[in-house]
Amino acid sequence: MATAQDIHLADSLITAIVPTGTKPPEPPQTAGTTPVAPVEAIDGTGLLAVPGLINSHTHSPMVMMRGAAEDLSIDDWFNQRIWPMEVNLTPERVRVGARLACAEMLLAGVTTFVDHYFHADQIAQAAIESGIRADLAPTYFSSVGPEGIDAAIATTRDLATLHPRITASLGPHATYTVSDDDLRRTADVARAEGLRIHLHAAETEAQTQASVDKHGATPIEILDRTGVLDAGALIAHGCGIRATDLPILQRYADRTAVATCPKVYLKLAMGNGTPIKQLQEAGIPIGIGTDGAAVHNTLDVWESLRLLALTQKHQQNNAESMPLSETLRLATRASAAAAGQPHSLGALEPGRQADITLLDLSAPHNQPLHDPRAALVYSVRASDVHTVLVAGEVVVRNRQLTKLNLPEVLAEASALAHTLVDLSNGGTIQHYAP
Ligand SMILES: [Zn+2]
Repeated sequence: MATAQDIHLADSLITAIVPTGTKPPEPPQTAGTTPVAPVEAIDGTGLLAVPGLINSHTHSPMVMMRGAAEDLSIDDWFNQRIWPMEVNLTPERVRVGARLACAEMLLAGVTTFVDHYFHADQIAQAAIESGIRADLAPTYFSSVGPEGIDAAIATTRDLATLHPRITASLGPHATYTVSDDDLRRTADVARAEGLRIHLHAAETEAQTQASVDKHGATPIEILDRTGVLDAGALIAHGCGIRATDLPILQRYADRTAVATCPKVYLKLAMGNGTPIKQLQEAGIPIGIGTDGAAVHNTLDVWESLRLLALTQKHQQNNAESMPLSETLRLATRASAAAAGQPHSLGALEPGRQADITLLDLSAPHNQPLHDPRAALVYSVRASDVHTVLVAGEVVVRNRQLTKLNLPEVLAEASALAHTLVDLSNGGTIQHYAP
C-alpha cells in the first residue's frame, strides 16, 4: 500500500498532495488577497482516493426506462420500445429522470457524465442541483427540420455559459439519422464557435455496411467529408469502425475520441464491440461509458471498466492484454480526454479539478488488499464509494448525498416512471433503419 497522503484543495482545485503530516508548499500569493483558513478537513483514514469516475457516454434520463426493453434485438429495442416510449418525453419527466441518474452516479463515485439527450436544459438543472459535473449535448435528428435543429444548437450555446460545472456539445444523433447537409452545418457551427460534437457512429458492422451500400462511404468517411472529425468529435461506440477508417481517425487524433460501453455490446449482441486495440495503436483516446440505463440497466462505470478488461482479454485470447494499469488509465486520463477536458479532469494532481472519490475497501469482497488496482478493476462495488467531491465540494458524505434528497428523488421517479414507458400512444419519434 502507498503511504498516507494529504490532498490539499483551494477553491475547486487540487493545490498539493503531500505525505500526511507534512506541510504543503506555500501557495503563490496574489497581490491584494489574504490567505484564508481551511474550511474543512476530511478524515480519509483507511480510504483510497481515486480520480472521480467519468461516464463518457450516456443518456441520463433513460434511467426512467430501466428494465423496460429486455431481450430484444437492436432493431426491436429501438423500434418496438425506445423510440415509441420517447414520444412521452416532457421537460418534467426528463428532469426527474436526470435527478435519479445524478443520484445514482454520485453514489457510485462518478463525478462527470457526458450526456446526449432531449430537453438538455432540464438535465443541466438536475446536474447543477446535485453537484455533479456534466457535458451535455442536446440530441437532434434531421427529421425535426431546420427549426428543430436551430433550437438544439441554441440550447448548446445557452448551456455552454450556464455554470462552471457544465460544458456543452452539439448533439446530432447519428450518421444514419442526420443528413450529410445537417452534419456539415453542425461542423461549421462547431468550428466557428469552438464547440465539440458528440454523436453515435458506426455502432455496428451492419450499420457500416448499410452506409457503404446507401452512400458509398463508411460512417467514419461521412464524418470526415462533412467536417465533423475536423471540428472535433466524441464518437459513441464505433463497433463498426473498419481498418480503412483508422488512418482517417488518426489524422484527427488530437481532437477526436471514441466512447466504449462494453456491457451494451454484450447485451445487444453487437459483435466484438469497439476495436480498442486498433484505436489505441492509432492513438485515438478511448473513454469508458455506460450508455443509457434503458440498455445498460445501471450507470455504474466500475461495471463498464471491468467488462472492458474482461472482453479485451477474451477477444485477444490473451490474459496479458488490457492489464490493470491500462484499464485504469482508460477510466481516468483517457476518459477525461474523451470528455474534452484532458488537462483538468482524470487525475489527482495539483492544478486539476478536485473531483475525488474516496473508497472504503474494508468489506470482505476487497480483503486482503494485495493490490488496490486489482480491487478497483475486479472487486470494488459502487456501494464501496464513501465520499465524493466535485470541484472541491463534498457531494457524497459517508454514502449519503449532501445536495439531493434521495427519498424525494426516488419517490418522484417512481410516481412518473409508468408515464415514460406507456406505449398506448402508438407513435414514435424515429424509425431505426440504418
Ligand atoms: Zn448512446
